[in-house]
Amino acid sequence: MAERRAFVGGNWKMNTNSGSARELAAAVAAACADAAAEVAVFPPFPYLLTVREALGSSAVKLGAQDMWIEGDGAYTGEVSAAMLADCGVSVVLCGHSERRHVIGESDELVGKKVRASLAAGFDVILASGETLDQREVGETDAVNARQLRAGLEGVSAAEMARVTIAYEPVWAIGTGKTASPADAQDAHAKIRSVLADLYSSDVAGATRIQYGGSMKPGSAGELLAPPDIDGGLVGGAALKAEDFAAIVAAGG
Ligand code: PGA
Repeated sequence: MAERRAFVGGNWKMNTNSGSARELAAAVAAACADAAAEVAVFPPFPYLLTVREALGSSAVKLGAQDMWIEGDGAYTGEVSAAMLADCGVSVVLCGHSERRHVIGESDELVGKKVRASLAAGFDVILASGETLDQREVGETDAVNARQLRAGLEGVSAAEMARVTIAYEPVWAIGTGKTASPADAQDAHAKIRSVLADLYSSDVAGATRIQYGGSMKPGSAGELLAPPDIDGGLVGGAALKAEDFAAIVAAGG
């Protein structure tokens, strides 16, 4: 099995303001200075430059919560790859469940975003996960497989070196409920077998798969312990530097 370095992302969603984003970024940079895991933060678009500045020379990467698929032009309200690069972004989150289920992004659009982000030179976190209804009727693995196949369509094996998958059961996001470590491990192992099917066992073994959904300092240790869980995508707990750093430390 390939050695996979843990990767923990802090998804700030639509939270913070210019002052609190600056403070949080500076605190995360300080608290994660010696982290063994790779770390990225995903602030709201208006604060990317503020956060970039606050991160300074820290190894913490700057991420974008979304990206539009076309170059600069007549796309009101959207943000291009060139703009993100100009702000110092190096990793783009694609297919978060809030974009899929609240904003209405299709699997196909998510795939276009993954391809556009990779083509622009970014690393990508591709999120997938089932709703509670889908879990209850036994569709968890089928939903993940469908979202991964569409999300990774046209992505080469070489490009997979820049892709991380985030398994985020929708019913666990922001609800305080987490998947059990055993259920999460099971879903991650199935996701890895989809990657083996799409690419090869080498690619599947090298790709990192994060767990996301109400991960907190108290649950991170057991959620990050199973063999196929390679880090986390953290929402609520990423808004407190101390909590986020504790999760990062549990990851690696
Ligand atoms: P949560 O969010 O940790 O608040 O559940 C995780 C995510 O949506 O990435």
